[in-house]
Amino acid sequence: CGIVGAVSNRNIVPILVQGLQRLEYRGYDSCGVAVYDHGLKRARSTSRVAELLEQVGAGHLQGTTGIAHTRWATHGAPVVHNAHPHFSHGPGTDATAKPGRIALVHNGIIENHDELRAMLQARGYGFASQTDTEVIAHLIDSLYDGDLFDAVKLALPQLHGAYAIAVFCKDEPHRVIGARAGSPLILGVGKEGGENFLASDAMALAGVTDQIVYLEEGDVVDVQLGKYWIVDKSHKPIQREVKTVHAHS
Ligand code: GLU
Repeated sequence: CGIVGAVSNRNIVPILVQGLQRLEYRGYDSCGVAVYDHGLKRARSTSRVAELLEQVGAGHLQGTTGIAHTRWATHGAPVVHNAHPHFSHGPGTDATAKPGRIALVHNGIIENHDELRAMLQARGYGFASQTDTEVIAHLIDSLYDGDLFDAVKLALPQLHGAYAIAVFCKDEPHRVIGARAGSPLILGVGKEGGENFLASDAMALAGVTDQIVYLEEGDVVDVQLGKYWIVDKSHKPIQREVKTVHAHS
């Protein structure tokens, strides 16, 4: 339902959770946030974003790279283990006991999730949720060979349905990759220290940045500190206009 992501050199947990609060008006049944802090860490809730804020407040969750989500369940009940962000721990019989490698949030629906899940299970991936979203995390993990942007670009043609995603990897913790097809996603160019953001709606970044790039259908964006890189639906590099947006706070 709602996505916020950030790459910064300050703790971005407060901005991610405030971003979720600005997206609450859309409705949701659960929410969550994941950051890089010597590995992937996350907090999830089936209550209000205010409850998530209590879980992560007072420095309980801190990191300079992260993603956050409000979920409106389409596949899998609105319970904590189905809330995003979803992690992939790589293949292996006791995969979920290992630390996560890929963290992902998703808006929309993946129509071919059953066939992708069967393919990934056959390759040894264990599933921790009933969502269509979790297949994307494992699919990207299965294609990961040291460059997350490349892995996402390889994964996208296998996804049938509507999505906006934001994903990061513990092995490249200063990078968040976003992609959209059928669901909105924007890039927010930060004002301080080279930080940059992703969100499903410019409203999520009100008070943080008004410099917005509206990604187009099929775009994939590589968000880093002080720079970003966009490719279009045929994966050709593309410049998109940065617009000044007057969001209501
Ligand atoms: N289909 C996904 C799920 O049920 C994402 C729903 C959403 O857009 O919030 O988890």
